[in-house]
Amino acid sequence: MSTEVMASPLSQRVLQMAESETLKMAAMARELKAKGFNVINLSLGEPDFDTPVHIKEAAKKALDEGHTKYTPVPGTVELREAIKVKFKRDNDLDFNINQIVVSNGAKQSLTNIFFSLLDPGDEVIILAPYWVSYSEIVKLAEGVPVILKSDIEQDYKVPASEIAAAITDRTKAVLFSSPSNPTGMVYSKDELKAIADVVAQHENIFIVSDEIYEYINFGEKHVSIGAFDNVRDRTITVNGFAKGYAMTGWRLGYIGGPQWLADACGKIQGQMTSGANSFSQKAAAYALLADMTPTYEMRDAFLKRRDMVIELLSKIPGIKTNKPQGAFYIFPDVSAYFGKSDGETTIHDANDFCDYLMTKAHVAVVSGAAFGADKCFRLSYAASEEDLRAAVARIGEVLAKLK
Ligand code: PMP
Ligand code: GLU
Repeated sequence: MSTEVMASPLSQRVLQMAESETLKMAAMARELKAKGFNVINLSLGEPDFDTPVHIKEAAKKALDEGHTKYTPVPGTVELREAIKVKFKRDNDLDFNINQIVVSNGAKQSLTNIFFSLLDPGDEVIILAPYWVSYSEIVKLAEGVPVILKSDIEQDYKVPASEIAAAITDRTKAVLFSSPSNPTGMVYSKDELKAIADVVAQHENIFIVSDEIYEYINFGEKHVSIGAFDNVRDRTITVNGFAKGYAMTGWRLGYIGGPQWLADACGKIQGQMTSGANSFSQKAAAYALLADMTPTYEMRDAFLKRRDMVIELLSKIPGIKTNKPQGAFYIFPDVSAYFGKSDGETTIHDANDFCDYLMTKAHVAVVSGAAFGADKCFRLSYAASEEDLRAAVARIGEVLAKLK
């Protein structure tokens, strides 16, 4: 037998790509659970609520009525009409339906955007802490992620002046989510205006604004950066159904943006997926224009849990939290534990910290390193109050052993 190490048959593209840390932690938690461990999984950013009944009924009706065929590649006219109304109603954004593209989740929407915009070496400024997939999608499209960090003392907000300083001849886009995954931070109207004013000075730079947590916002009314006149034509607004309507498994996201970009996204999608699921689109069109009470009830439940978890975590020394204004994540700084040991395991960084919680407390969370914040971890409080209480109690117990 040859002793030569076989070169991998895989492409450099895939070899260089990091696995999604959120999905990896969720899979690890499921695996441990299957082996009989009592794992509490706070790793995945997924509402624990079921999709509201009226939306499920709309999908069942769509199936019964035979909506089981391919739809137009950019989405059904019915759904794009509903999104057009939603953009105007909630976001003060004016798009015609040809500027709207529906995809298999906001993840695919983002992939379409960067495959459409980037040539090799083009830079995308990503405001950190950022959602894990941003940097990998940009790299997959042969772009270069330029990460601008911020920490808990700044409430995880990157000042517009730092964006201005990071712009180069190769900058193609600025990308961020607000409300933010992973921090729950929400940029204020003034902060968004400052970012818009910076980008407006550079006519070849686009804003990609991921607003998938729009409806899980505990503070002021949501503001879309694309509604500022000086960047209206240069903002691509990304949204989806996964979070606000608890429809993660339905795989539906969408964008509104310049016509040429929407056309490009449709072209890519036409070769890759042929568009999104037919009966999901039918139900989604209904959801957007239907009673939003279930969405607001979920938001209120998340707010209650946020306050509860912050209160419980505040009793554990060394865990520094802020007060997120949206989404369903808490993103504590735990650098006070670095260098400590329980006699068996030493915590060097956020990855060790999360491994320690997983192995010793059987609580799954995600290391901040995956989000561009290596002093932190992300806890998703999209879980029952009972599980959240138990998880924080377990975390407190195992952390008390670190000296
Ligand atoms: N953007 C952010 C900020 C997210 O947290 C997620 C989570 N899934 C997505 C995009 C992708 O959403 P979808 O499930 O619609 O692909
Ligand atoms: N967006 C969610 C999260 O951050 C779902 C998992 C994923 O797609 O990354 O956990």
